[in-house]
Amino acid sequence: MADQQRKLDLVQNIADVKAAMATVPHHEKARLVAVSKYKPAEDLMHVYETGQRHFGENYVQELVDKSAKLPSDIQWHFIGHLQSNKCKVVAAIPNLFAVETIDSIKKADTLNKACVSCERKGTLNVFVQVNTSREDVKSGVLPENCTQVCQHIQDKCPQLKLNGLMTIGMFGRDPSETNPDFECLVDCKKKTEQEMPGLDLELSMGMSGDYLQALQAGSTNVRVGTTIFGARPKKEDR
Ligand SMILES: *Cc1c(COP(=O)(O)O)cnc(C)c1O
Repeated sequence: MADQQRKLDLVQNIADVKAAMATVPHHEKARLVAVSKYKPAEDLMHVYETGQRHFGENYVQELVDKSAKLPSDIQWHFIGHLQSNKCKVVAAIPNLFAVETIDSIKKADTLNKACVSCERKGTLNVFVQVNTSREDVKSGVLPENCTQVCQHIQDKCPQLKLNGLMTIGMFGRDPSETNPDFECLVDCKKKTEQEMPGLDLELSMGMSGDYLQALQAGSTNVRVGTTIFGARPKKEDR
């Protein structure tokens, strides 16, 4: 009955995360994305059965496989690094809710074209990923280029719907202090909305270690993996 225990654990974990989110004022506007990379489909089903519909995946093949066999009313978020040559398979997933990792004008154009060539119905939500910590190892546009990329998506990518901004941020920041990555993303939103009247950008920020703090800073989309599903296998064991 290991599976029964696993189910109970997952149900408890997601309830705990939701209860914690509910303690933050204005939390009702925020969306919880259950980040399920490296986790088996059975785990996702247990969480799905609690009513959770938004799931996040990092790897294209894993997303393709899971989306084919799991319920079609799941709303998938692609949150990994998107290679240009993978845009078509990603855009072809009918119940893909959003690509959160647009990191250049070129990537936006490629994904826009991919939506046309796979005859995707309706527009595809996208988030512009901002490298708020300016780390070389992180993808994303630099904060000062954020508005330009947003403007391009709005003007030149009719198959994409500019839904918001996303950041991963630096790991290991002190959670008791204000988080400069969150502040930077809020600032990018403010500046971009000033330049592009009528926009109301979402903010995708906050992970297991800091999702409550992110909500307090104005996040509307938190991406929580470990706190729901437990630790992921170490690289050498995958
Ligand atoms: C893996 C991942 C998460 C979830 O991280 P946890 O710390 O396990 O909650 C969130 N966002 C992105 C982009 C990720 O790659």
